[in-house]
Amino acid sequence: MVIVTLQRDKCIGCNYCVEMAPSQFQMSKKDGKSVLLKSTNNKGFHTLKSSDHTIVENCELAVKACPVHIITVKET
Ligand code: SF4
Repeated sequence: MVIVTLQRDKCIGCNYCVEMAPSQFQMSKKDGKSVLLKSTNNKGFHTLKSSDHTIVENCELAVKACPVHIITVKET
């Protein structure tokens, strides 16, 4: 399993995560913050669980690129 999280409230809308992992992240036209696609929201922590391990590489690039460090990715 691959688990990606986004602490969305703290997003500053820089778009880097979308550039690194466009299949997982998209910018919201409503509030200009990043959206973690297919995630569920639990008190501001948006979590995506996926069995597709091919997403890890790009998501790790997004983790590194995010200037406010609000993305995590882990494999279980
Ligand atoms: S890289 Fe971080 S701050 Fe920038 S848009 Fe993505 S989640 Fe928001």
